[in-house]
Amino acid sequence: MRLAVTGLSGSGKTAFITSLVHNLLSAVGQPARLPFLRATAERRMLAIRLDPPGTEAIAPFPVREAIAALATDPPRWPASTTDLRRADLTLRFTPAGLLGRAAGGIAELRLEIIDYPGEWLLDLPLLGQSYREWSRATLERARHGARAPLAQDWLDFLARHPADSTGDPDAARQAHDLYRGFLAACRTGEQLSLLQPGRFLNPGQIADPSLLWFCPMPLAIGAQARAGSMAALMEARFDAYKQVVVQPFFTQLARRVDRQIVLVDVLRALNAGQAAFADQRLAFETILAAFRFGRRSLLRLLFGARIDRVLFAATKADHVPALQRDHLEALMANLVAVPTLRAEAAHARVAATALASIRCTEDGTDVIDGRKVDVVIGLPEGSEHRVRFFPGIVPVTPPPEGFWGERFTEFPVFQPPRIASADGDGVPHINLDKALDFLLGDVLA
Ligand code: GDP
Repeated sequence: MRLAVTGLSGSGKTAFITSLVHNLLSAVGQPARLPFLRATAERRMLAIRLDPPGTEAIAPFPVREAIAALATDPPRWPASTTDLRRADLTLRFTPAGLLGRAAGGIAELRLEIIDYPGEWLLDLPLLGQSYREWSRATLERARHGARAPLAQDWLDFLARHPADSTGDPDAARQAHDLYRGFLAACRTGEQLSLLQPGRFLNPGQIADPSLLWFCPMPLAIGAQARAGSMAALMEARFDAYKQVVVQPFFTQLARRVDRQIVLVDVLRALNAGQAAFADQRLAFETILAAFRFGRRSLLRLLFGARIDRVLFAATKADHVPALQRDHLEALMANLVAVPTLRAEAAHARVAATALASIRCTEDGTDVIDGRKVDVVIGLPEGSEHRVRFFPGIVPVTPPPEGFWGERFTEFPVFQPPRIASADGDGVPHINLDKALDFLLGDVLA
């Protein structure tokens, strides 16, 4: 069973996999950590072990280092990386039902967890676009809203090196660097998400980096790129990028993955304001297109995907108290309502949840302006004292215009809880077990 974990940078993939593996490794001794994973609740888990990395080219997820970071004093968040990684586990369990038990049967599940940057999914629409179409759409976005001031240096450079000028590899490289700088500024400065191509900020292992040295350009309407021009050089690289990098990735994803969880940091986008939230939605729609079911499923049409369960999870739900976590789940469900319906028709399952891979807070109450409000209480990283944190109200549907007046307060980075030892008693979480039961419950039955 191959379970893929994805999400944009910072969405919580590393924390999720660390918690998932550590809690599973602890699940036989500490079934109470995963009460909603039926196989543990029914005490059917017999042994779970981490397998040595295989001989395949994919780098191993640094499980031991990640768990060790949580066991230091003070505990640290495991370092995230930006490439494809995997972790292999073997789960031995008693099958459910009378038959399985009566036969004294023992079943074994080999679980391969694959972790890849969600940014790579943003390249799916490129496969259906020409360089001209992609350039037009990307430039249109770059000239408006929060992007416009950040795009200035890059656009000025393109004005000095227009599409019809001689195709100079050095100038193309410079244009690419400026464009990538623009994407990075959109991400860090404005918390924007729809940043294409996905490999520009998260390249992963690419044998020939010159494949990436292109960027969109303003092109004259109707005209073909003249041979030897900047436009022709950029177009050739764009096409090579699609063929050598994007296509093989989706082929692999479709062939190798059975189940998928997509992590989304909805709270951060809400926090960053209207532009960031709207942009995360656009990026999310693009990612959704990869996991659509039914007749419009691109992954199926192009690559014959076999993924049959997809879970969309709003992460870091321990930043908000219990009632708001329900809101967060409702908001996530709202964002995936259409694909959920399509999936049913395709005998696949899509669901939404809110979870905290590593729970750093507890719920409490406070009095603000004479009113009792729910808060979360946790220790901000590097601080001596716990704070009572009131995050604001999470809307259950994508928020209307008026909502954005009251920005959320900036979320603190909470210190993770310290775990006793690498093979100890797991790590606190919210809904990790429910997520696992949705993703794997049937194969552990
Ligand atoms: P990745 O880039 O998708 O691998 O993201 P990480 O897993 O590295 O998460 C980025 C940061 O988000 C972490 O360093 C934590 O500060 C925070 N984070 C991730 N998961 C949680 C969680 O469950 N609860 C809280 N409070 N913070 C989290």
